[in-house]
Amino acid sequence: MAEFLKLNEERLNTYGNHRKENREAVVLTVGNDMEAHGYAMPPDIDSRTIRALAYLACQRTGATFLGHLPYSTDSVGDIALNWSPQYIPYAEFVEKVAGSLSHMIGSLGFTPRKVFILIGHGGNRLLPQENERLSKVARAAVESFLPGFADGFDVSGNEAGDTMMRVLAAGGEHAYIMEHSAAAYLGDVDRRKLAVMNRVAQKDPLEALRRWPEIAGLGGYIEFGGNEFDPLREIEGLRFCLEDFKQRRAIIADKKLGNKIVESVMECIVKRIEE
Ligand SMILES: [Zn+2]
Repeated sequence: MAEFLKLNEERLNTYGNHRKENREAVVLTVGNDMEAHGYAMPPDIDSRTIRALAYLACQRTGATFLGHLPYSTDSVGDIALNWSPQYIPYAEFVEKVAGSLSHMIGSLGFTPRKVFILIGHGGNRLLPQENERLSKVARAAVESFLPGFADGFDVSGNEAGDTMMRVLAAGGEHAYIMEHSAAAYLGDVDRRKLAVMNRVAQKDPLEALRRWPEIAGLGGYIEFGGNEFDPLREIEGLRFCLEDFKQRRAIIADKKLGNKIVESVMECIVKRIEE
């Protein structure tokens, strides 16, 4: 066989727009595949959103998207089973993430320079505590993180955007302006179902919270739940969503705002990968 017909890795690594070193950064995602976020968004919206962001960031940086870890936990404990029926306790969650990670990294044809686990569900926010342990399992440096907005993120002048920023500053939202807007931009909001929800909310926001207790910062649980839901009441951002929703009587899903959110969070991820 002619020598020129044999193409080796060394040669292939000189091809294309992404350098080998960049492709050796590996990205995984962990979100929530079964969680209530109102009538208009699919139950795996947290996972869908973080995977979309991961993919965009991989296109930009050349990093390799390895896959999704289909587990989720919640920092408020097992009351989360009410809106997140596949919830598992934190220790079990870490165990499963470590097991899958070991298998997935082992299946690669190269040794990663760095492994990033992008967190798409607030309930998984403690995972970065395990970076050292996960690095041992993966035999590569693992950095898990919950991406935020890039420096200079500015939505001032947009009323819904201003409200969203106040909610986030107070400790996070659930199924409110940010999640609905990002999902609307990515094509994951059912407009007909959103209209159904908003018609009910317009007439009676409390009725909307009875039908979809997870919307507006898990507002129905805060409004109607017993003492067991106090951990939610301690999160100021969630209370803020509820109060805002009762006044506003609508869920905003603003595509333009969603575009800004997605761009900025992607920027934050890119920066972390390129550091
Ligand atoms: Zn979530």
